[in-house]
Amino acid sequence: MTRSLRLLLVWLPMLPLLLACSGPDETRIAETETPTVAALSATPTSTATATVEPSVTATATSPATPSPAATGTMVPSQAPPTATATATPEAEPTPLGQSPPPAYVPDPRPVDQQVTLPDIDTHYQLDITEINVDTGFVQASQTITIREFREPPPEQLMLQVVPAGYGFFTLDRMALNGQEITPGTLNDGFTLVVDLPQGIQAPAELAIEFHLNVGIDPTGWGYSMLDADVLRLGYWYPAISDDHSFGDLLDPSYTRVSGFDVSVTTEPGMPIAHTGDLASEEPQPDGRVRYSYSSTDTRDFALVLSRSYQVVSTISATGVAVEYYWRSAADGGLSAEAAEQRRQNVLFWTADAVDRLSALLGPYPYSTLRIVDAGPAQPAGIEFAMLIYIAPNYPSLDRLIYHEVAHQWLYAIIGTRTQIDGWVDEGGAEFFERGLPTDFAEVPPVPAEGYLFPLDAHQDEIEGAGRNQGYFSIYEQGARFYYDVMSLMGWDAFWAAMTDFYERFRFEIATAYDLLALWQRHSDVDLRPLYRETFRYEWIDNLADPGVEIQQGWVPILSLRSTAGADRN
Ligand SMILES: [Zn+2]
Repeated sequence: MTRSLRLLLVWLPMLPLLLACSGPDETRIAETETPTVAALSATPTSTATATVEPSVTATATSPATPSPAATGTMVPSQAPPTATATATPEAEPTPLGQSPPPAYVPDPRPVDQQVTLPDIDTHYQLDITEINVDTGFVQASQTITIREFREPPPEQLMLQVVPAGYGFFTLDRMALNGQEITPGTLNDGFTLVVDLPQGIQAPAELAIEFHLNVGIDPTGWGYSMLDADVLRLGYWYPAISDDHSFGDLLDPSYTRVSGFDVSVTTEPGMPIAHTGDLASEEPQPDGRVRYSYSSTDTRDFALVLSRSYQVVSTISATGVAVEYYWRSAADGGLSAEAAEQRRQNVLFWTADAVDRLSALLGPYPYSTLRIVDAGPAQPAGIEFAMLIYIAPNYPSLDRLIYHEVAHQWLYAIIGTRTQIDGWVDEGGAEFFERGLPTDFAEVPPVPAEGYLFPLDAHQDEIEGAGRNQGYFSIYEQGARFYYDVMSLMGWDAFWAAMTDFYERFRFEIATAYDLLALWQRHSDVDLRPLYRETFRYEWIDNLADPGVEIQQGWVPILSLRSTAGADRN
């Protein structure tokens, strides 16, 4: 019988030092470590445990002791069976009527599994003042307001500019807190780099004027592109991200959720499919109309415009509005009845997917999900927050819709590092694409030539190998892996883990480590042998034993007492 203690008690004076180191070895506690009285009297903020990553700024303010409710998300739902007193940090007796003081347990993510997006609360105001759906010209002004730095401000902000990947983007002007600035560029102009002055504080405002000359992406996949009478605007504005490059197999957008207020001033009656909800329609003196939309906690904000859109809609059993923006031009060859039946099918499959995924993972948190015919060149489908591009003539449209709706959970609600951990969201979407229509009985077969890339391959590795190779290696191999985990864990434990995944990472970013650790936490069977067979990750052996919770954040001593030393072996 071995003992494994995977919790490190960290005392307040050491916090800056600990935040600077992040290797997996630092996450273990020595059995003999005993907190000092001074450490035990530390009184960190009650909000620190509500987030997945440690909050430095929070410790300096708001000296409230966490209530059990505030730390509830980090506390295991069931006590491990073999906790013993000898492994427990010996705290001073707590006077009656006082909550025990918490201890800080740092983020256990290995270095390659850190979330490199700055932890800031942002709001985007985006105003399209000119738009031409025939030429693809878009003039826009944007204000990104940083409402809170949840960690010390970074030295630089990295803005991803996805339309620059196609050559569609021109920056006209940028100002930080009213001061005109010239950003640097990285990744062939895909990334704009903004230096932040020392001592910058929230709120801070980054104002950007830009225009787009949206043209044709010959592959048809363009997130933003002009496709016949459809103007697609997906990932169309500069967004706070990290230093990564454009890639068109695994989605190039990597962002935190934000609040959005977006307006489009255009001709009256222009059909616009959009993220968020319509807030107002204001007639302008020049005869145009300003359509205003807003959303909260969405990872991006997409728009698709076409004069030829018509809209059919339904309400799902769980109360989510489903709208389908369709074009009669896509119905060529179908009888009127068949075309109408297809529209009804699109609504049915979408609503069915929303309701079943809500039951399996956690509720769809937005009012509406919009399905959009993205134009004749679109090969299949692409997911955005609250909005999905489809090709209505795709041969297995039901499968396509199940796949793209699953992305509302895996990428949009639960954020992922799409280019690094493609297997988490694309493998997951493929798992649901095959699973929802077959009651999870359809496992994708291994191709005759095997998989060209290991499952943890990232965009830069598979770039250039061709879409099919990426598809088999990441999507299909990923779906097989989800099935393998489910069959090892068992049905109930697997879905308990997935709902836990949703609860912990809704509106956050989850990495491969987070999902693998959570499955192991909910499993009675040790999943590490499967993980070792599948991945190149060097930290698999550092994962806890089955059933062991790795806590992080400000954790009450009492909960450490009940979990430290848990080990089923
Ligand atoms: Zn996908």
